[in-house]
Amino acid sequence: MQPLFGEIVLKIDTHTHIIPENIPNFSKKFGYEGFVSMANKTSEKADMVIFGEKFRTIKCNCWSTKSRLLDMRKHKTDIQVLSPIPVMFCYWAKATDTLKVSQFLNDFIANECQKHPKKFLGLGTLPMQNPELAIRELERCKEIGLKGIEIGTNINNKNLDHMDFHPFYQAAQDLNMSIFIHPWEMMGMSQMNKYWLPWLVGMPAETSRAVCSMIFGGIFKDFPNLRIAFAHGGGSFPHIIGRVEKGFLERPDLCAIDNNVNPIEYLGKFYVDSLVHSQEALDYLIRILGSKSIMLGSDYPFPLGEDHPGDMIESSSKIDKNIKKDLLYTNALSWLGLNGV
Ligand SMILES: [Zn+2]
Repeated sequence: MQPLFGEIVLKIDTHTHIIPENIPNFSKKFGYEGFVSMANKTSEKADMVIFGEKFRTIKCNCWSTKSRLLDMRKHKTDIQVLSPIPVMFCYWAKATDTLKVSQFLNDFIANECQKHPKKFLGLGTLPMQNPELAIRELERCKEIGLKGIEIGTNINNKNLDHMDFHPFYQAAQDLNMSIFIHPWEMMGMSQMNKYWLPWLVGMPAETSRAVCSMIFGGIFKDFPNLRIAFAHGGGSFPHIIGRVEKGFLERPDLCAIDNNVNPIEYLGKFYVDSLVHSQEALDYLIRILGSKSIMLGSDYPFPLGEDHPGDMIESSSKIDKNIKKDLLYTNALSWLGLNGV
């Protein structure tokens, strides 16, 4: 293991979100609603507002680098991988407008990384509804030093195996850019408006939808060098793999139409973060996906994240010391293509 940037790195958090302190009024700029703006901002917190309604209240550690660095010191997190908040993807908007939002966010994240090169690595966002524009911005992300891209689990309800996205996968593979797949626009949201169900039930299902689409669609087969990671431990996917394989074996006429490789062959061919909130689920994840496929991810600074990033891995009495090291940083370096830097 080579030390990163000349230092021994002990803990890399691959799943964290950040937002600029000041967001332009994109709705006013582009002439239509739906873009996130901030309201009721104090030094401690602010409301994210969409269509004039509060989406959520965020704390200052979402935008303040000072608070973030203090938290990192408290949590003993050496490096955070910064990514946009999925509600900022804006795939629904006019693609040229989404490109402008993406460029604003990507420049901001790249700038944070340049200011604190030993603390932050960055992922960008792209106007995925227009793959041609997305690829152009992907190339620019590479130039400004971002390590990869965060995308949603569906793009305006197109699944991630869709042919439209193949040129993007090819470009990401050629450019050596990592991909982080995060649930958003959860399926069934309109039927689950109580009890925070879109986040508790919809998100894991949404992530499983992305994994299965990509397996059955042959994405991992056709782009074998892509380094893909899924949020929240791969959602419900690791827990339904037996059912997915059974479906593949019993109904190849439905499941094996684009890829005739058994889904279990892809276990270990992609990464997931460690955010599963239970020791038993983490142990299961290690058994099913292998210890080289799981990386610390906390969803900092949001309330459904791990309060003390890495605690579940570090405090486990069942996980071997070397495996802990893999989960806490070695696998993150592999996913980010930084082995040997
Ligand atoms: Zn997240």
